[in-house]
Amino acid sequence: MSDAAKAIGIDIGGTKTVIAAVDRTGNLVRRNTFETRSDRGFGIGLADLFDSIHSVLKAAGWRAEDLSGIGIGCAGPVNPLRGTLHNPYTLPGWDGVDIVTPLQQSFRVPVHLENDADAAAVGEAQFGAGRHANPLVMVTLGTGVGGALLINGMIHRGVNGEHPEAGHIPVLNDGPECYCGARGCWESIASGTAIAAAGQAFGFADCPAVFTAASNDANARAIIERAVNATAAATWTLLHTSLPQRIVLGGGIGEEHFETFAGAMRRQIARATQIPKGCVEIVQAQLGNHAGVIGAACLAFQNSKPA
Ligand SMILES: [Zn+2]
Repeated sequence: MSDAAKAIGIDIGGTKTVIAAVDRTGNLVRRNTFETRSDRGFGIGLADLFDSIHSVLKAAGWRAEDLSGIGIGCAGPVNPLRGTLHNPYTLPGWDGVDIVTPLQQSFRVPVHLENDADAAAVGEAQFGAGRHANPLVMVTLGTGVGGALLINGMIHRGVNGEHPEAGHIPVLNDGPECYCGARGCWESIASGTAIAAAGQAFGFADCPAVFTAASNDANARAIIERAVNATAAATWTLLHTSLPQRIVLGGGIGEEHFETFAGAMRRQIARATQIPKGCVEIVQAQLGNHAGVIGAACLAFQNSKPA
């Protein structure tokens, strides 16, 4: 495989989809973003994907036959072995669809599907804040809460090759009901969605409004403190189940309010008596919104046949 190797990375979220032409050095050559709008059905979604891939290839001056492959990071649950999507909450209208086969048939290159948190972790591990750390945990605090674990650079998988959902670590007895079937999950307290929902009861328009008001409003401050404490409590579980060398904190909230959340996580780590002192670090993600597409492209390179 030469440094000139080329791949398409795709990052599919509930709101938007990003398509990028990425080279072997992690350089993002061209990028296109559009609204996912899965509720219009998968036929329209596939047509959007095809159009966008073609336009990114054209803008980059690349041909489909030169690609090492196409990598997809998608809001989970996904089944990487079967290439199917299973998230009716975030991607209504696409539940159970096979996204891999049509792309493979159309572009005639290997297509690889992963959970978006795993794709972002692979991107950070290869080209961002996760380099030279093993094991590596990546936490994304954004619309939802995602977690990924890489051991020896490989994605830690569960049964059927599927992605364990660290965002549903329970942190609060009798906390808010969560769609996963439990109460008081990390995600149901610390996600942007959860912060916005808690803030609405006090008249705050959205999640950023709660963060802004936290400096002078007791209700807003309590909501943010609860999110921070939930993240610290979940860190305790991550620490004692995975004992990572490094935790990379990313996602929109995780990056914008990095010091607030990282400080609480570091205090938890410092309290722990059963893990080696000074060995687990918390660092900020470096690839920002691009971690997903860059990581998805890395997956395409990893899963392609050597040139
Ligand atoms: Zn849950």
